[in-house]
Amino acid sequence: MEKKSQLAIFGGPKAVQSNPGDIFSWPIITKEDEDAVLEVLRRGGMSGIDVTQKFEQEFAEWIGAKYVLGCNNGTSALHSAMFGCKIGVGDEIICPSVTYWASALPCFSLGATVVFADIDPDTICIDPNDIEHRITERTKAIVVVHYCGYPADMDPIMDIARRHNLKVIEDVSHAHGGIYKGRKLGTIGDVGAMSVMSGKSLAIGEAGILVTNDLEIYERAIAFGHYERYGANIQTEYLKQFAGLPMGGYKYRMHQLSSAVGRVQLRHYDERNAEILKAMNYFWDLLEGVPGIKAHRPPKDSGSSMGGWYAAHGLYRSEELEGLPLSRFAEAVRAEGSDCSPGCNFPLHLHPLFNTCDVYGHGKPTRLAHCDRDIRQPKGSLPVSENIYNLIYSIPWFKHYRPEIIKEYADAFRKVAENYKELLV
Ligand SMILES: *Cc1c(COP(=O)(O)O)cnc(C)c1O
Repeated sequence: MEKKSQLAIFGGPKAVQSNPGDIFSWPIITKEDEDAVLEVLRRGGMSGIDVTQKFEQEFAEWIGAKYVLGCNNGTSALHSAMFGCKIGVGDEIICPSVTYWASALPCFSLGATVVFADIDPDTICIDPNDIEHRITERTKAIVVVHYCGYPADMDPIMDIARRHNLKVIEDVSHAHGGIYKGRKLGTIGDVGAMSVMSGKSLAIGEAGILVTNDLEIYERAIAFGHYERYGANIQTEYLKQFAGLPMGGYKYRMHQLSSAVGRVQLRHYDERNAEILKAMNYFWDLLEGVPGIKAHRPPKDSGSSMGGWYAAHGLYRSEELEGLPLSRFAEAVRAEGSDCSPGCNFPLHLHPLFNTCDVYGHGKPTRLAHCDRDIRQPKGSLPVSENIYNLIYSIPWFKHYRPEIIKEYADAFRKVAENYKELLV
């Protein structure tokens, strides 16, 4: 008699049976957050900067950088970081194609453009070996994204940047508190910029943060979008003459209901992040050696660790499962009761906004507005990025270490991987 399938997709019992409770709930909001918000709200302090400046000081101490500037979102922090690095008309930045659009797109409004690099199939961060051949006289900066919490390989990237006199902007929106060889992410490049909106691992509302040890970058960011701070205190000589009005014409002030929440969230972040890491590492430890799936985390002895584990994903190796498509694998895992969707951000270089859209009326695609050559990257040019839907899948993002529940989710993945033959057509 033929053995009856145990996979839930064929009618077997689901691997995930327990109610997850609040294991996925985020952010954790307590009376401490509520009191901090009400204090600002009741005195009408929403548009001030006193709370934000305290938050900046505490954040600077926490991350270990000289200067921290609160912004109204991560996009504006990245925009300010680019302006801080003097990215301007005709300049090029190099950025991974698989990322959220704000890692690259703000360069358009500076008159600059982007050349995309491919990602590494194990880190899902920019591939350090795919950068150098893209550098031209116009290249000004490399944008590094610590993708889904994974610390990008900064040493070779910093080496390339120093040899070619380029700035490095770290987009830390996915990886607050992450460590690269003992160093906090965001403090390794010339400037770090990050979102801290409610969905991220450091979740404080709608807000962004810029960090740097470079006074000029910091003061240019202030001049760009913080007119109320752009005054007599500015030390960079050429910036002094324009004080009082925002050089970029933007207003990027952080809302103080967010900075009030930020101060409370930051106080608890290391402890909460440590529990996330413990829970997520336990999930992957349970799946060590299971064919077809592989943890997206740095090796244990590397001195590096995930930060926050935002948008947790796993790596897929279809060749270990006789080519079973990830879409089918994921469907079977979902039937077991766990989250599992193929891909994450789509590759930006294929989107029409980077190919045909004339945003500002230049009479040609904005990507090429100030270019001396056609830098567009057609389908097939960045193979790993374009394969992202076959390469990674979402996994549950546990906020609490509850081994019995986590094991049920790990079992969902194990069960499908071990019974993959039933899914082959
Ligand atoms: C969320 C995110 C941003 C943008 O942040 P907002 O606060 O939404 O403006 C930038 N980069 C990455 C990688 C992100 O995930």
